[in-house]
Amino acid sequence: MRLLVVEDDRDLNRQLATALEDAGYAVDKAFDGEEGHFLGDTEPYDGVILDMGLPRMDGIRVLEKWRRDGRTMPVLILTARDRWSEKVQGFDAGADDYVTKPFHMEEVLARLRALLRRAAGHATSEISCGPVLLDTRSSRVVVDGSAVRLTSHEYRLLAYLMHHQGRVVSRTELVEHLYDQDFDRDSNTIEVFVGRLRKKLGVEIIQTVRGLGYIAAPPEAPAKRG
Ligand code: CA
Repeated sequence: MRLLVVEDDRDLNRQLATALEDAGYAVDKAFDGEEGHFLGDTEPYDGVILDMGLPRMDGIRVLEKWRRDGRTMPVLILTARDRWSEKVQGFDAGADDYVTKPFHMEEVLARLRALLRRAAGHATSEISCGPVLLDTRSSRVVVDGSAVRLTSHEYRLLAYLMHHQGRVVSRTELVEHLYDQDFDRDSNTIEVFVGRLRKKLGVEIIQTVRGLGYIAAPPEAPAKRG
């Protein structure tokens, strides 16, 4: 999952980005409203954290423009504690949730997880696919009851495919959603990661769809005889 953080307070922006990266997301950063609006308008983010008070273009305006142009990604706004009207304006402009400053990082992470899974149509923080269980709270993966250790890239790949299971995901989409802007993107690496992931999981839940991409689905039940 790839996220955008729009926050002009550089320390706070860095803290958010670091916490999100540690939690397994790819993160792009913007430090003013114009830059943030441009990125959200041109890159396919899975979610955005948007501060309301921003230089060059305020958060409400950024959000209104995105929504008017049909950008539907989940947006979590950051508001000042005593400004209830900001929250109302934010929701009316198209925000999905808010956190007031100062906040606990855990709350931001939890609210974001909820937004991302709901956007993908899942009601709980654990997502399963056949014998594979993905716990988005702890970023852990269990297969048939045993924990499997994955690198952060492998986890991101699996999490994206499992959030969108049952749908074919192209290599281009994976590259766009798994890496931040500065990453040297090469869709061949996706193939390598898929190979490693299959080996580590030991079960066939990721299928290659020739010429199109990959699909996560429960392994097919053994064919019945007779
Ligand atoms: Ca601000």
